[in-house]
Amino acid sequence: MSPWKHAALATYYHATRPYRAWWNARAAAAMRAPVMILFYHRVADDDANSWTCSRRVFERQMHWLKRNCDCVSLAEAQRRIREGNARPAVVVTFDDGYGENNDFALPLLVREKIPCTYFVTLHHVRHGIPFPHDMRMGNTFRPNSLDDLRHWAGEGIDIGAHTRTHPDIGKIDDRARLEDEIVTAGEELQQFLSRPVRYFAFPFGLPANMQPAAFELAFEAGYDGVCSAYGAYNFPGDDPFHLQRIHADEDLLRVRNWLSVDPRKLNVPRYRYQLPTSTAPATSSVEQPRQIGV
Ligand SMILES: [Zn+2]
Repeated sequence: MSPWKHAALATYYHATRPYRAWWNARAAAAMRAPVMILFYHRVADDDANSWTCSRRVFERQMHWLKRNCDCVSLAEAQRRIREGNARPAVVVTFDDGYGENNDFALPLLVREKIPCTYFVTLHHVRHGIPFPHDMRMGNTFRPNSLDDLRHWAGEGIDIGAHTRTHPDIGKIDDRARLEDEIVTAGEELQQFLSRPVRYFAFPFGLPANMQPAAFELAFEAGYDGVCSAYGAYNFPGDDPFHLQRIHADEDLLRVRNWLSVDPRKLNVPRYRYQLPTSTAPATSSVEQPRQIGV
């Protein structure tokens, strides 16, 4: 972020703090506090790209989360979405499965007892092949191995499914391919880990990267929930199966701004899906939220 943008955000953040404190207190009193789910990719000090977070910033962010929110698992997040939530809650998730996370991020999460769901792309963690979005930028970052994942699962990190090959799910017309990416890849991951894989995260995670048939397959396969990634908050009363996530920016101020509920971010258009019934096919839409919070 440029220095002037940072200064503008700092001014906005501090100017709106009284309003946020009032808004959050009312939401908490009404059991409508937000449930926020962050997604990271890679923690390393090489400043490689916009989805790499430095070790120092990641550590500061984890300490800020512990001081200001309840750090919970996805299962606990779903319970709060179903039953009500009296304190801002946050879940830490990771996507793809980068080997560098073995060195700092995952040990820190285990040491600090911060629950985490770690979504991995099966083909890459199984065969050690770098991710296509990195290759396009000339980077050959090493993915985690299955042995890494077995180790971290044993340390309490929840491993989730992130397809077989990291495709754009919204563009897949072939039902068999969709089933392989969402269901079969998750089942194979489960077998490799000898542990249940309960959650699925859509690659890219914008509304255009999803489709109702994918929700239907994930639901029928028995996943407990699926994650999108377009920057929306979850509130009690929302659909607990569809967990909406926020990108964890490298900038701590931006994360603090998001997680103290930025009034501007309450109107992020949300993806809605409708599972098929005996009389109607599956549908989806993107809606502006009518009334969020209190
Ligand atoms: Zn991904």
